[in-house]
Amino acid sequence: MTDRVVIVGGGHAGVTLAALLRQSGYDGEVMMMSAEDDAPYHRPPLSKNLHEPEAEQPLRPDHFWSDHDLVLRLGTVVDRIDRVRHEVVEVGGRRVGYDHLVLATGAVPRSLDVPGAELEGVLTLRTLGHARELRGFLAQPGCRLVVVGGGYIGLEVAAMAVGAGAEVTILEREQRVLARVASAELSAFLTEHHRAAGTTIVTGVEVTCFEGSDGRVTSVVLGDGTSVDCDVVLVGIGALPLDDLAVSAGLQCSEGILVDNSARTDDPSIMAIGDVTRRPVGMLPGRSRLESIPSSTEQARQACSVIMGSAPPPSEVPWFWSDQGDLKIKIAGVVRAGDSVVLRNDPAVGRFAAYHHADGIVTAAETVNSSGDFMAAKKLIGSAMVIDPTLLANTATSPAQAIVTQPQVRA
Ligand code: NAP
Repeated sequence: MTDRVVIVGGGHAGVTLAALLRQSGYDGEVMMMSAEDDAPYHRPPLSKNLHEPEAEQPLRPDHFWSDHDLVLRLGTVVDRIDRVRHEVVEVGGRRVGYDHLVLATGAVPRSLDVPGAELEGVLTLRTLGHARELRGFLAQPGCRLVVVGGGYIGLEVAAMAVGAGAEVTILEREQRVLARVASAELSAFLTEHHRAAGTTIVTGVEVTCFEGSDGRVTSVVLGDGTSVDCDVVLVGIGALPLDDLAVSAGLQCSEGILVDNSARTDDPSIMAIGDVTRRPVGMLPGRSRLESIPSSTEQARQACSVIMGSAPPPSEVPWFWSDQGDLKIKIAGVVRAGDSVVLRNDPAVGRFAAYHHADGIVTAAETVNSSGDFMAAKKLIGSAMVIDPTLLANTATSPAQAIVTQPQVRA
């Protein structure tokens, strides 16, 4: 009997795994089930580009699937996992057996549970369908967009919409944008940059309801009773892992499917990869959710090596990027509260890096239009060398010249 890998989820993680399996010489069946009707596509452009072809980019060309003897089943929703019989059960009752099951179901946008959230024009952004709907509104001359949430979705869409001539207001509940994931230095820089581009940013505000007329949203009401008029609202307040299948199958989950460094769940026949997982991450305690393309790619490599029985891939320094207008933001490592921050170059010139360190060991770097610093920071984080912060701040010398000792052994 032929071995079969079933991948549930047609996002970046699942597609990368399917491709890696064939590249590695896997000769069993590979079946990918995606609940979406669109063939797998790149998600990052959805919040960054207004026009085709940049906005709509397939992850692989149409012929890729048949060329590599991969079965892609679109519009296929898995209802449950029968772990005893090693089968997934689709909505409708069809059963498909697996030798290896890989859950790559991703995440869904968190919704804002306030009155009026059901009005037409109150949108979220995750899928191609969502992006098309948003672009339809932004194509209207003079469109007034309110973004709820000053996270990466909110800032990227604001840059895109302002560039297209929309009037944009960001409403953020925290005292600064990207409060949980970025340093105060980067938040301040981005706030100033977006304001200079024309976006209104209001922080420390709570949305209490949406008001509408004829079923369409017309304004967003805030906790202090004031309101902001609008034609469309984008709610970008985070994403929740789509782990229901795993939870109902009794796999260990905790706001995400718990996996080890090899993408394995607590069932030896089931792995999970991508945004749906909670995984060990370098120097962080416990397990974390890393919602990023590089993390998905790394986990696809891990899952492939488990299936192929090959050596595990080396662990990678987490990183991700965000394009906001003319800003190329790249972040290496994970920003933690409490670490010290040292700046290289001046945010005022629009190109700088904020290196984070704990006792001289670099833990993260937020870089803006500074890919040299990004590459240097990845190496510093990966090697755990100790740096001298004063030397690191000196732009007359390279980041590597700030190293003062040999690698430390990390716990
Ligand atoms: P996000 O990055 O988690 O940011 C959501 C922001 O909204 C947070 O600052 C959050 O504050 C705030 N918020 C939460 N509830 C709110 C409320 N009721 N009113 C106002 N603000 C509120 O999430 P996202 O921007 O929606 O992005 C969704 C996912 O897509 C994330 O995983 C993100 O990493 C990913 N994404 C990645 C990229 C990239 O890699 N370049 C780009 C776009 C999206 P709290 O911290 O207090 O909750």
